[in-house]
Amino acid sequence: MIRSTLLLLAVASLPVACAPAVVSDPPGVAVQLDATATTHRPPVVSTGLPPTATAPASPTAPPPSPPPTTAPASPTPIATATTVPTPTPDRTILCSQRLPDNGLLTVVTLTYGLSRDFQPAGLVGLAGYLSNDVTLGYPTELRRIVVNPLVDMITAMQAEGMAPVVISGYRSYSAQAIAREKWLEKEPERADILSAPPGFSEHQLGTVVDFGSPELAAIVGQEDIEFHTYFYKTSEGAWLLDNAHSYGFTLSYPREATEITGFFYEPWHYRYVGVEMATFLRDAGISLTEHQLATEPPPCIPD
Ligand SMILES: [Zn+2]
Repeated sequence: MIRSTLLLLAVASLPVACAPAVVSDPPGVAVQLDATATTHRPPVVSTGLPPTATAPASPTAPPPSPPPTTAPASPTPIATATTVPTPTPDRTILCSQRLPDNGLLTVVTLTYGLSRDFQPAGLVGLAGYLSNDVTLGYPTELRRIVVNPLVDMITAMQAEGMAPVVISGYRSYSAQAIAREKWLEKEPERADILSAPPGFSEHQLGTVVDFGSPELAAIVGQEDIEFHTYFYKTSEGAWLLDNAHSYGFTLSYPREATEITGFFYEPWHYRYVGVEMATFLRDAGISLTEHQLATEPPPCIPD
């Protein structure tokens, strides 16, 4: 009961010390999980799964036998297709105990969470790569694999006259817990809407960026606003929606996928998944979570 309430109401991705997201637009109709999600499987980016065994191209035409050798000292090994074991999901692992690897496609929803012990490898500070105009002076960290694509994307936006800012990146389990506590104290009725419980935020993966725009305050009519669904109306928001996939980023929580992701529309929240997967998701019109839940086994048992 609580879980289903959280699924519909909770919103993640709020930095510890920033204004709450104002979710003024009604969430749209959820996209149906249907066959289209399974018929366009992209190249595997990083699932941690072993490669699929390749079937012989022409089973009816075996290759010619090798010429007989004069002294077969030992039996010639028979070439057989290697049997690749099918990974069996461990359905006994609780979500709270799940320690995912450092693949880029780990599912994180309000159902499938992360362990308090999970910390991504290779976190680096953005201060050495982006100016204070972009980082706002925050000590934001991301996984190293995300940094160059992010810098390239922001550089491209700046070249077109935009001024994107990075409001939030990696957040540890404990940082998320602190944020959650603050909201429970300040606004207990809305805590589920304003902040995800610790362990249920994609920000813990270190591959997620919340973007801001200098245009947002005027559009919303509130000077100190940092997050608002009207981000999609800003130049930066519109550009990201059209171009982020070319740099490997995907919108985690589209307007129409609330019932699938468990989160309301967050037009500012982009996750790095690599160019191939991001482009596939863009072309298919689905979110990573929708794709993963339709094509991968459940990652763990909800607590
Ligand atoms: Zn976020």
